[in-house]
Amino acid sequence: MSNNTDKPSEFDFATRAVRAGQVRTQEGEHSEPIFPTSSYVFSSAAEAAARFSGEQPGNIYSRFTNPTVRTFEQRLASLEEAECCVATASGMSAITATIIGLLKTGDHIVSSRSIFGSTTVLLTNIIAKLGIATSFVELSDLAAWEKAIKPETRLLFLETPSNPLTELVDIAALAEIAHKHGCLLAVDNCFCTPALQQPIRLGADIVIHSATKYIDGQGRCVGGAVCGTRDVVGEGVYGFLRTAGPTMSAFNAWIFLKGLETLNLRMQAHSAAALELAQWLEQQPEVQRVYYPGLPSHPQHELAAQQQSGYGGLLSFELTGGKAEGWALIDATRLLSITANLGDTKSTITHPASTTHGRLTPEQRAEAGISDGLIRVAVGLESIEDIKADLLRGMR
Ligand SMILES: *Cc1c(COP(=O)(O)O)cnc(C)c1O
Repeated sequence: MSNNTDKPSEFDFATRAVRAGQVRTQEGEHSEPIFPTSSYVFSSAAEAAARFSGEQPGNIYSRFTNPTVRTFEQRLASLEEAECCVATASGMSAITATIIGLLKTGDHIVSSRSIFGSTTVLLTNIIAKLGIATSFVELSDLAAWEKAIKPETRLLFLETPSNPLTELVDIAALAEIAHKHGCLLAVDNCFCTPALQQPIRLGADIVIHSATKYIDGQGRCVGGAVCGTRDVVGEGVYGFLRTAGPTMSAFNAWIFLKGLETLNLRMQAHSAAALELAQWLEQQPEVQRVYYPGLPSHPQHELAAQQQSGYGGLLSFELTGGKAEGWALIDATRLLSITANLGDTKSTITHPASTTHGRLTPEQRAEAGISDGLIRVAVGLESIEDIKADLLRGMR
């Protein structure tokens, strides 16, 4: 766990992404060092006692204190403008630590229906076993959120924009509803990252990350993080993590630190490429509809322009055909990777109806808006002309 020691106003975002949280050792290294050590030694028995009692701050054991992990936490906290950040072993463990760290049996969660598949399974199959129930609502429907809140509701949870249909919710309006009812608002900010959207500035209490995606940005490591206030994240979430142990390793923290240094540039490049691809797709006769918040045709384009400083790298589109045409398009690609992952320099292509949403019934899929002709592309950093040519191979 690390407290944010940088005053956000002192340096701009791009500067903090490169420099925040670094503590140089006596070796004078320019790049942040990796500390691959499980434990730390004390100069005396009295110092050991003072560390263990919490009287003296400092390292004890790398399940909960590691200098490389701390640098990553401080940098991300600075970028999210959070008081505090806790790094975790994965995005899923960040969500688990948030819920178990802050809620108890009998509490209730209201969640967007359009969330990462494993998060849905976590809520309905694992968290439910602890006696913490979840009600699912339509992401953009503020009235539905408020209606689903019960006296025992403690947490509202969402991702915006959603995957794969890029639907949004007004974070500031939902934060107001959450606080009126004494609930915490948690935003999984995986798709935008703080480079494009800062939920805490908009009133959210907790920001969750799968660092595996854009924070790494090159598809190497699995990791996660939770950002928020000292009270909520520094106590509840960190309290769970230090004892239960789904901790980020020093090696992974170092990779993610290097990812943060180029996050701003990469998110701008992903956004520019996705916008160009979305505009091009809208002109193709084989494409019926394109879902991308940067397009004026997107029903929430104005909200996206207000709430985000860029539109991100994720888009989806509906072919005029169905599953056969969708699969043919995917199988004709030579460049795009056929995988459900995202947030990589390499572009990826997915058929949601038969993969990420394959376990839903046809009725559930229809309700979620996932048609058989829907294709999702997470636009990477290759030449946009090569990506267009690759998609064109399977279209005509
Ligand atoms: C991938 C992902 C997760 C889970 O993260 P892992 O690092 O794979 O555990 C959570 N939320 C979103 C939105 C994701 O895309």
